[in-house]
Amino acid sequence: MKTNTICVQGGYTPGNGEPRQVPIIQSTTFKYDTSEDMGKLFDLEASGYFYTRLQNPTNDYVAAKIAELEGGTAAMLTSSGQAANFFALFNICECGDHIVSSSSIYGGTFNLIAVTMKRMGIDVTFVSPTAGDDELNAAFRPNTKAMFGETIANPALTVLDIERFARAAHAHGVPLIVDNTFATPVGCRPFEWGADIVTHSTTKYMDGHGAGVGGAIVDSGHFDWMAHADKYPGLTTPDESYHGITYAERFGNGGAFITKCTSQLMRDLGSIQSPQNAFLLNLGLESLHVRMKRHCENGQAVAKYLHDHPKVAYVNYCGLPDDPYHELATKYLPNGSCGVVSFGLKGGRAAASTFMKSLKLAAIETHVADARTCCLNPASSTHRQMNDEQLKEAGVPAELVRISVGLEDIEDLIADLSQALGQC
Ligand SMILES: *Cc1c(COP(=O)(O)O)cnc(C)c1O
Repeated sequence: MKTNTICVQGGYTPGNGEPRQVPIIQSTTFKYDTSEDMGKLFDLEASGYFYTRLQNPTNDYVAAKIAELEGGTAAMLTSSGQAANFFALFNICECGDHIVSSSSIYGGTFNLIAVTMKRMGIDVTFVSPTAGDDELNAAFRPNTKAMFGETIANPALTVLDIERFARAAHAHGVPLIVDNTFATPVGCRPFEWGADIVTHSTTKYMDGHGAGVGGAIVDSGHFDWMAHADKYPGLTTPDESYHGITYAERFGNGGAFITKCTSQLMRDLGSIQSPQNAFLLNLGLESLHVRMKRHCENGQAVAKYLHDHPKVAYVNYCGLPDDPYHELATKYLPNGSCGVVSFGLKGGRAAASTFMKSLKLAAIETHVADARTCCLNPASSTHRQMNDEQLKEAGVPAELVRISVGLEDIEDLIADLSQALGQC
């Protein structure tokens, strides 16, 4: 099926007389006739459900749709995008290991890797998304277990050269994990360019209505764990907590990663998405292909308008021909990137504040990728602890405004921008 059809109908096919819409299985637990039946589930000998901390049918329908959209072999939902990235990394990294990550990533993921995972004994080397091949290769160590980056980075809006990053990762025998939140599989399918694992904050465009926090992990099934057995003992040697199952042997390259992630990490850390939120996420997915088209069109029009405005110093949007990431966007995002645009005003921080106060349609929020247009000045909110020098280094200078362009009529949006810029 094509992407548009998968958005609408993927993941769930009702049988005769069954609900047309994905049912919300609002149950913590599942009933069995015999202890033997249940025992088989615990031994992973039969598939089925026993407790919603690990798996729930509603979640699995929606995860199956996301797997289809990405062209993957297996997927799971998590309670947030943060949980998705943590689980994806921690599934193959442990104390004493090392990660190579693009430096241009979401602030929450940066903290997760640089601070919290470091405290767990997992080290990281950050590389610029524009680093040359020599620099990329030099970042790897014998204990490196994963490479990480974002298709379109939040909030820097850099575009990852997925093919080049995948080549570097594979040359060192490790998988490339790509956070595909901003592009969504409608805009880019990282597996087609060599990525091995994809993660999402479904909170953003996939939900698309600011209704539910959530995440997803998808496996391409491409990475050969057994070929790198010494690096990934968690997948390639018996798991004593599951009666000596070796995930890569039992479930193959297509199923090992997600099965281990569910049966170990979900079991022990319990960060599952609620079935109710999975249902809401699925409603969002049903229109993802329609909404992304409009987000991209509106984003492009807003970026162009700001680019040509005399009070605007610069605009970051890979859809603009003079953007440094335009060439990569042409390759990886031929149907448009996303609705998020960032820009700086010539009047600096004070002008940014006046501009945002004056907007009538765009609300000030720490959110993006919503049907409703919203905006943020990171310097006075999410990055408030930094001084002007640190802000510049982090790629979010004091005057930067991030605007997430929604699905409103573009004439109304431009009129709102125009009157707000008039106040600056
Ligand atoms: C928001 C975001 C996250 C974190 O997701 P939550 O659902 O807020 O936990 C991770 N990656 C990217 C690219 C994001 O935009």
